[in-house]
Amino acid sequence: MARPRFDELYPIKGNYKRFDQRNTAFELHRRKGGVPFSYDSDEERAKRINKKVYGYSLLDYAFKDAAGLYETIPNQKGGMNTGFYSWKPLINRNQNIFERWKGSPEEASRIVSKVAKYFGALDVGFCELDERWVYSHSSDWREIVFEDVEEGYVTNKKAVIPRSHRWVVAMTVPMELKENSFAPTVLDITSNMGYSRMHILAGQVAEFIRGIGYHAIPMGNDTALSVPIAIQAGLGHAGRHGRLITWKQGPLVRICKIFTDLPLKISPQASQGIIEFCEVCKKCAKHCPSKAIPFGPRTWEGKCKANNPGALKWYSDEEACFDYWNRVGSGCAICFRVCSFTKPKGLTHSMVKWFIRNIPRLNRLWVWMDEHLGYGKMGNPEEYWKEE
Ligand code: SF4
Ligand code: SF4
Repeated sequence: MARPRFDELYPIKGNYKRFDQRNTAFELHRRKGGVPFSYDSDEERAKRINKKVYGYSLLDYAFKDAAGLYETIPNQKGGMNTGFYSWKPLINRNQNIFERWKGSPEEASRIVSKVAKYFGALDVGFCELDERWVYSHSSDWREIVFEDVEEGYVTNKKAVIPRSHRWVVAMTVPMELKENSFAPTVLDITSNMGYSRMHILAGQVAEFIRGIGYHAIPMGNDTALSVPIAIQAGLGHAGRHGRLITWKQGPLVRICKIFTDLPLKISPQASQGIIEFCEVCKKCAKHCPSKAIPFGPRTWEGKCKANNPGALKWYSDEEACFDYWNRVGSGCAICFRVCSFTKPKGLTHSMVKWFIRNIPRLNRLWVWMDEHLGYGKMGNPEEYWKEE
């Protein structure tokens, strides 16, 4: 049976406007005069370390900082056109020596996929660039526009994406089940580690594409929304908690992407079943400490200014979520930990996923079993550093 098209599963209103990255919960908080990561100031860290709170020890902070190295050190910062996310070639010795590589879109997709997996991608998918997901403005107030130029560039006022960059490489990198089980503490280092991994991965794959004679704009969370692009590239579906859920690794992934003029073969959509499962599950909504995740059906309307209305989906109250981060003193990620798709690998869970894809009327049984078998409980950070 043919899989439904993206617009059938995720209808978008005709008057949908591109999201302005200045309206993310982080940026709204900053504009109100707040410091986005004030909970992570030196004073707050010292307070927690001195109180000897498990999950907030010196070891935990050092571990998390080191994991996120590529996201935080100067000149590698994970924003638009910084570090390995450079819009210009970083090496590219071949450009003036050889003719560009020639091959079919099928071959190009296969080769880029192979290279990306070698560099650490968990999954790779390809789609056409859909301008609706590109931010109207970056968080640092640059307007993002499309022009007939050969190579993308960024000035203080604008970021220019060439119209020839019609294809997207979307890639996931893994987050680990064990370390994510310590959410919401500093010891859940998986987001930071993911940001470092995707920074290096996107930069290396972009450099490879440039090395065969094409152009590439690599990015992490900057420049465009990751979740709809990943769905269009066939990597998974959007869950109730607003994260991408993949069949392979549930929500425990981070996403990076590359815009390019290298013609690529478009990937098929991921198998259906995730949205239908989320309709009956609601576990993340029950466990969300800030009540940010909705219990009801998907809607067209957002809940707060940090949402972008006009797409049929579950909207989380991103501002309430971010307030909780400031209260708990760490990124939260409880919704990743408790998600019914966050499971160890194994035959039993693969079989359940088969049933979710093929016999959705059994979904309530899996929801009931998940709850009663106690999946998604928080790990004990005190034990972590004692284990071999
Ligand atoms: S990160 Fe935490 S507070 Fe935010 S939506 Fe997920 S569970 Fe709720
Ligand atoms: S916890 Fe359940 S409802 Fe929430 S995203 Fe995961 S599967 Fe969907």
